[in-house]
Amino acid sequence: MTSTVDDPTVHDPIEELRTTLEEQFQRHSDQLAHLTVCGRQPDRGGFDDDILQALIASSRQVVADTAQALRRMAEGSYGICERCATDIPPQRLEILPHARFCVPCQRKLTGCPAGSWPGCTGANAATTALNGGHRCVSHRPDTRSATGSSR
Ligand SMILES: [Zn+2]
Repeated sequence: MTSTVDDPTVHDPIEELRTTLEEQFQRHSDQLAHLTVCGRQPDRGGFDDDILQALIASSRQVVADTAQALRRMAEGSYGICERCATDIPPQRLEILPHARFCVPCQRKLTGCPAGSWPGCTGANAATTALNGGHRCVSHRPDTRSATGSSR
């Protein structure tokens, strides 16, 4: 007798996150390709050069983190903080499915007071100077790097 019922009508949260990650990977890959094309144009596609470079770095990081999250999902180590090895709360993964760190670790790594912001990969601290002290480029409302769950 087993109490585990393999009912396909029951949603597997990991499967939903996988779908989200795959969509996110596609979206940010497209964005990165678009930004790269802009970077080759004489007018940078209308972007400020510094901003464009920051956006490219941010998109590239999200693509890399998302790919890594999918890989860790396959390996069974998904949802575990890479720094302190605690479980990342499911609520955080819903907001930021490619999260590599729990919130306290993320804050320590980025120094970003809003490190749990959707799309904040924690890798954007280097762009601080570009944003006039705004630590994370992903926090700019115009990057459209939020979860995009509503439409
Ligand atoms: Zn941690």
